[in-house]
Amino acid sequence: MYRIEVDPHTHSVISLHAYSTVEECARHAAERGLRGMAVTDHCSLIMAQREHSVEAISNQRVLPDEMYGVRVWKGVEIDIVDFEGRLAFEDRPDEFHPEKTGAELLLSSRDFVIASIHTPFDRDRGTVEQNTAMYLAVLRNPYVDVLGHTGRSRHAYELSPVLLEAKRLGKAIELNNSSLENSAAVSAKPCRAIAEACRDLGVPVTVSSDCHSAFGIGRFSAVERLLWELGFPEELIVNRTRESFEAFLEGRRRRLAALAGA
Ligand SMILES: [Zn+2]
Ligand SMILES: [Zn+2]
Repeated sequence: MYRIEVDPHTHSVISLHAYSTVEECARHAAERGLRGMAVTDHCSLIMAQREHSVEAISNQRVLPDEMYGVRVWKGVEIDIVDFEGRLAFEDRPDEFHPEKTGAELLLSSRDFVIASIHTPFDRDRGTVEQNTAMYLAVLRNPYVDVLGHTGRSRHAYELSPVLLEAKRLGKAIELNNSSLENSAAVSAKPCRAIAEACRDLGVPVTVSSDCHSAFGIGRFSAVERLLWELGFPEELIVNRTRESFEAFLEGRRRRLAALAGA
């Protein structure tokens, strides 16, 4: 079996439909032998917290970087809102810092950013061409590190161009345990195809719980089973150790430093 030390996708009460505090998540993470976790609450125009999500998540600075021996990275899971690959709050000036958009303000100061689709912005879920272009645009957003649960969002896309672009840019594709455990009917087939293509193309992935309660932190078993069946190379899992995840985030820091200097 795989040994995975970091859970890179977790939700706290700040997401409103999740049930544990960051401290509870960290305590459970420590008990499960994890060495790191990223707090990635939802930044969304549609889900419960709406307008307050930029403000609420920006205040992660009050949290320590380490709790119970677990490194806690301050991240976010932000909504993709259209086929152009725009993200939530990308088109609105921030309430307190109107010289920046809400998205820019929030994403530029996070350790880690996942971009995912939650509420459908198109009833028909788009064409494969539209979705492929959308995911390419999201990957080219310098603030985004990972495409979240693309296997369960029902926006089918062409795998090779998207996965290879992620690889070229030093980004990762998420393999989400919750997708396989809680919505297997929709997700099992696409998730398997994505994992297989990542294996064949050598594309980095994150393996995550996407837990909405501390009791689910570090739960990766459904993805691990799939990876085991596929003979998936461990070195492509960027969160396999605290150090490998640090190295992945170092790529983000370099990218953003280059952007600031440009
Ligand atoms: Zn999500
Ligand atoms: Zn999530």
